Amino acid sequence: MTAHRTFQSFRLGFTWCYLLKCRDGYVLIDTSYPGYFQPFQKCIARLGIDMSEIKYLLLTHHHDDHSGFAAELVRKTACRVIAHPNAVAPLKKGESEDTVQPVNLRVKFVFSIFQLFHRGFRFPPLSLAENDFILTGDNDDLLKNIGIDGRILYTPGHSRDSLSVLLSDGSAFVGDVAMNFLRPTGIGHRPIFVEDINTVYASWQRLVEEGAKVIYPSHGKPFSSRELVG
Ligand SMILES: [Zn+2]
Ligand SMILES: [Zn+2]
Repeated sequence: MTAHRTFQSFRLGFTWCYLLKCRDGYVLIDTSYPGYFQPFQKCIARLGIDMSEIKYLLLTHHHDDHSGFAAELVRKTACRVIAHPNAVAPLKKGESEDTVQPVNLRVKFVFSIFQLFHRGFRFPPLSLAENDFILTGDNDDLLKNIGIDGRILYTPGHSRDSLSVLLSDGSAFVGDVAMNFLRPTGIGHRPIFVEDINTVYASWQRLVEEGAKVIYPSHGKPFSSRELVG
């Protein structure tokens, strides 16, 4: 079998976004921060993709660096949103939930500086509609039904609404449950912010057991899933 890329990726600010080809267009995994809608339009134009081809937006979780221009995208494309029930209220409010802690003291220090420049954890609110998909946990069917050979896994730990996409070739789009970011702070692949670190490790184990081979995080470059175990 030849290696065949079934997705595209591009970075907007600190966030990597992924586009999966589906039967009638594309699934976008995450939007970046608010204010990145125009750069996003340029990125997809460069890839030869028309805005109208984006049929689904899968939010790995609701945080502002993932849902930043979700409302704008939905307004422009009428794409259908895929999210966890725990994302519904914070999306509607347009604010990241205050349930995470820095994973260690060095991260805490780095972010105390970063927050001097950061404009807060708000984003334009998004109310989910009747035809959106609110997934209560793992889902084996949704992606297959739209022509993608993969599944959706519930992978909490960073946030209580974290979803990952696992393709049958082992590509895993994990949002923030694993990162490749700020590694000099000694965090390895741990998320910089966590809700519960043991739940993060359980989600890693789950991903590996289910066949994840290459981890595509939202923050940082892809890496081998072997780096999550042992
Ligand atoms: Zn996050
Ligand atoms: Zn993030």
